[in-house]
Amino acid sequence: MQYTEVLVVGAGLAGLRAAIGVNERNHKALVLSKVHPLRSHSIAAQGGVNAALGNHHRGVTDTPLKHAFDTVKGSDYLADQDAAILMCEEAPKRIYELERWGCPFSRTVDGKIAQRPFGGAGFPRTAYAVDRTGHVMLHTLYEQAVRFEEYSERQEMGFLDEWLVTRLVVDAGVCCGVVAVNLLTGEVEGITAEAVIFGTGGSGRMYAQSTNALINSAHGMAVAYWAGVPLKDMEFIQFHPTTLWGTNILMTEGCRGEGGFLTNSEGKRFLADYPDSQKAMEVAPRDITARNMTREILAGRGVKGKYLNLDLRHLGADKINARLPGIREIAMSFAGVDPIVDPIPVIPAQHYTMGGISTNIHCETEVKGFYAAGEAACVSVHGGNRLGGNSLLDTVVFGAIAGWKAADFVDGKAAMKQGMKAVEAAVEEERKVLDALRNAAGTEDPAAIRDELGQAMQEGVGIFRDKEKIQKALGTVLALKGRFQDVKATYRGRGMNPELTNNLELRANLDVAEVVVRGALGREESRGSHFRVDFPQRDDARFLQHTVARHVDGEGKISFSPVALGTWEPKERKY
Ligand SMILES: Cc1cc2nc3c(=O)[nH]c(=O)nc-3n(C[C@H](O)[C@H](O)[C@H](O)COP(=O)(O)OP(=O)(O)OC[C@H]3O[C@@H](n4cnc5c(N)ncnc54)[C@H](O)[C@@H]3O)c2cc1C
Repeated sequence: MQYTEVLVVGAGLAGLRAAIGVNERNHKALVLSKVHPLRSHSIAAQGGVNAALGNHHRGVTDTPLKHAFDTVKGSDYLADQDAAILMCEEAPKRIYELERWGCPFSRTVDGKIAQRPFGGAGFPRTAYAVDRTGHVMLHTLYEQAVRFEEYSERQEMGFLDEWLVTRLVVDAGVCCGVVAVNLLTGEVEGITAEAVIFGTGGSGRMYAQSTNALINSAHGMAVAYWAGVPLKDMEFIQFHPTTLWGTNILMTEGCRGEGGFLTNSEGKRFLADYPDSQKAMEVAPRDITARNMTREILAGRGVKGKYLNLDLRHLGADKINARLPGIREIAMSFAGVDPIVDPIPVIPAQHYTMGGISTNIHCETEVKGFYAAGEAACVSVHGGNRLGGNSLLDTVVFGAIAGWKAADFVDGKAAMKQGMKAVEAAVEEERKVLDALRNAAGTEDPAAIRDELGQAMQEGVGIFRDKEKIQKALGTVLALKGRFQDVKATYRGRGMNPELTNNLELRANLDVAEVVVRGALGREESRGSHFRVDFPQRDDARFLQHTVARHVDGEGKISFSPVALGTWEPKERKY
């Protein structure tokens, strides 16, 4: 049994910023991650991070409040307005802090942090580092996390890499630690902590086609959900307009921000034909662009009937090499096209989980001492649709807040006494569960279940949804949950058993997929990324509400909770 003051689960941007936050308040953080911190999905973020810095001549009058308004409007008014305002007010502080810590942002000619246009603002607000923004941000935070200051009061940070948290332990409504597996040895251990923060990332791999890393399962969200913490707004899944045809590797929104065009089989910039993207064209919010691309393909104007072209050729070799070198490399390696001379074949695919572990504006969940931040959490700032560049921002703003709040919580608390027993008991139970799964002698192939789940999600809760499709998906998900009970394990070793990890993640994906599907079924309206063909209008009278899902008797139960309004009246979104 290990003990720490604050346990941070997840070492992406949210987890690392949270751990630094704990450290800034002179408490000890232990960071646990199922992969080495620098392999977290944050490393793959390309396009940039939003903040009202006003460094671009077209954005000199930008303010945090304007940024917050664009965020709320982009969210189709489902974001909590106080949370969006807080995020946008904190944004410049967090970006300049990263700069001071040595984050190599791209620069304007006069040496300021450069900004590029992304969807939602109408002018350049997105700070970036070429097309590797997440890469440089994660390295910067990791450097700060491992930095030990001999002469300060700060505590040295601990790391447990390649450990998987499988259970959150809650005793009498208070979080007292976790059960985790050392993936190298297979040892199951308890970790007691005065506070636990989850920065476990998004859940894209429930879908067959996703830009997310293979590690982005819904496991972190499920672990919280199983422990009684509700998930919020899970039916809002973002589909990124431009992913590489065939592999779904992301082609950043920065491609369009830098001036790239989307064209159909006739070479036409078809977004001009749709009223909601006529004005903003390629930099309309993602939900709108992804829908219009899909409509274009369904209307038979896709290239070879399958995809659309992302055309960067007119930007010229110099700009492509200077601003989008990673994109060029990926297009050449994975699609065999050089964007300097050829358009890039793209289609929309799953990209981001707007919903997540339900928290308030302080990243506190319903369970005392348990916090969540980053893509795993729903604070909620993204509502029905997240603006590009707001997610990296969310991780550093709310990561820091989660860290500070957890540290403050530890300050006001007597050292743990009772929780130890609950964690010990949970470890015993979990050993049995894992042994059973490791030795499972059923007949069902987990890979088949995973593939069928991915397909069911694509078809039932994709870009265009209707009652019939969603109900079919629900039937499939429930059937797959049943089949998972009879799963077959082929490798029984304890240590280095990726099959066991995959099965644990599959079990989680099935339960969280059920929540997505049930949420989509109950939300009889269209809002943000959730588009119901049978209810094509937004219905504020009935659904200007968050969806809250609880795990009751093995099933997802859905209810609703109010949205924090107060600053802006919900209006129709026009771009
Ligand atoms: C290809 C791509 C490009 C993107 N580009 C941009 C962009 O330009 N701008 C933008 O704003 N957003 C972008 N996003 C979104 C953004 O990058 C992510 O939302 C954000 O980085 C998530 O950070 P995080 O810290 O919440 O999670 P992650 O970086 O995904 O980290 C999750 C961590 O949790 C750990 N973990 C998970 N479950 C467990 C468990 N059970 N036990 C132990 N550890 C666990 C993992 O090991 C990992 O360390 C992009 C996303 C993708 C996929």
